[in-house]
Amino acid sequence: MPTLGFDAGKQGSTPLARVFLSGIRASDLLATFGGMTETEPAIDLHEPTLPEVRMHVAMPNAPVEGKISATALCMRGKSASFTRHVEIDIEGTTLEGTFRAGQSFGVIPNGVDAHGKPHKVRLYSIASPSWGEDGFGRIIATTPKRLLAERAAQTPKDDALDHSLFVGVCSNWLCDQRVGSSIQLSGPNGKRFVLPTDPNAHDYLFLATGTGVAPFRGFLMELLEGPPARSPACATWTRCTSRIDLVMGVAYTNDLLYDGWIRELAKKHANFHYHTAVSRESRSDGSKGEYVHHFIDRQLSVSDGCMEGLRSPRTLIYICGLAGMQVGVFQTLVKHNITGFTKVGVELAGIPSSAWTTEQIKRRVRPTHRCMLEVY
Ligand SMILES: Cc1cc2nc3c(=O)[nH]c(=O)nc-3n(C[C@H](O)[C@H](O)[C@H](O)COP(=O)(O)OP(=O)(O)OC[C@H]3O[C@@H](n4cnc5c(N)ncnc54)[C@H](O)[C@@H]3O)c2cc1C
Repeated sequence: MPTLGFDAGKQGSTPLARVFLSGIRASDLLATFGGMTETEPAIDLHEPTLPEVRMHVAMPNAPVEGKISATALCMRGKSASFTRHVEIDIEGTTLEGTFRAGQSFGVIPNGVDAHGKPHKVRLYSIASPSWGEDGFGRIIATTPKRLLAERAAQTPKDDALDHSLFVGVCSNWLCDQRVGSSIQLSGPNGKRFVLPTDPNAHDYLFLATGTGVAPFRGFLMELLEGPPARSPACATWTRCTSRIDLVMGVAYTNDLLYDGWIRELAKKHANFHYHTAVSRESRSDGSKGEYVHHFIDRQLSVSDGCMEGLRSPRTLIYICGLAGMQVGVFQTLVKHNITGFTKVGVELAGIPSSAWTTEQIKRRVRPTHRCMLEVY
C-alpha cells in the first residue's frame, strides 16, 4: 500500500508539494513505497499519458491458431546469433486488431516437455506498429533469436560436468517453422511499454540490446513511417516530429538486427538518430568496444554529445533487451546527475553511485514513469 502522503493532483496542499514549490528538491525527502524506502523524485509534470490497451484476450490455456506468413533471418551479416523476422497471420482470430506496438504475445510451442506435459508459453515482443504489418492488424511480426548454448548447471542437482548443447525449446521451434505452419498464440501482454497517447509531446531515447530492438521497429514505423495506404489508421496518423534516438547494443557488428532498414530510416528522417554500441570489437579509433551505457556515458562526458536530450523533461527512455542492461544505464544517469528517470532508495544515500553493486541497483533503483523497462 503506498504511503507517499501526497497526490500529484493536489499540488501545494501537502507537505511534499509545498516543499517542492518552495524550491527545495523534493528528491531530498524520503518516503516509503511498496515496501521499498526511496528518495522521492519531484512531481513530474512531464509524465506521459499512456493509452488504454487490451490484454489477455486469448489466454495460454485457450490459445488461438495463427499461421506463419513470412520468416527470414534479420542479422546484418553472418553470425551464430541466428535471429529471424517472423510474421504471423492472425486474421479471423480474437487477436486480430488487438495489439499496440510495444506489447508482447505468447507462443505455445508444439510438443511436450521432459515430464510429458504440454510446453509452457513464452513471450515475444511485437515488432510491428499497432496497425500490424498489413495496416489492418491482421499480421503481427516478432524477432526470435535461437537460444543455443553449452549446457551449464543451473541448480546444485544438475550435472556440473555436462556441457552438451542446450537448445532453447520455443525460440528454436519458432525459428524452425515454415510459411504456412500453424502456431498457438496468446495475448496481448503488457501495458506500460507502449508509446504515449500524444507522441509529439515527448522526445525518445530507445535503448536496445539484441532482440530488444523488436518493439522499437514497431515504434519507429508508427512514429515515422505511417500506415500503408488503405489502412484505417491513415485517417488519424501524423508523422512524429520529435527527436528520436535509438542506441542498439550487440556483441559483433554482424549481430545488428534490421540494420539496413534502420539506417535508411535515419537517412530519410532528420529527427531520427541511429547509434550502435558494439561490445566485442574495437571502435574505429582503436579504443575498446562498448556497451550501451558506455556509449551514453561517453556522449554525456563531452559538451556537444548526442545524449543531451536526456536533460530535457520532454524525454522518455525505453529500455528493452537483456536482463540487467538497465543496471549500467541507471548508474550512468545518476553519475551525470540526470534526474527524472530513476528513483533511488535511501539505502544508497551517501554511497557514490560508482560504488553501487549490481544487486543494490537491481533492488534499490527503480524506473519512474518516464522510463519504460522490458528486460528478459
Ligand atoms: C516481455 C518479453 C518479451 C520477449 N521478447 C522476445 C523477443 O522479441 N525475441 C526473443 O528472442 N526473445 C524474447 N523474449 C524471451 C523469450 O520469451 C524466451 O525466454 C526465449 O526465446 C528463450 O525461450 P526458449 O524456450 O527457447 O528457451 P527455454 O527452453 O525456455 O530455455 C531457457 C531457460 O533455460 C535455462 N538455460 C539457459 N541457458 C542454459 C544453459 N546454458 N544450460 C542449461 N540451462 C540453460 C535457463 O533457465 C533459461 O531460463 C521475451 C521475453 C519477455 C518476458
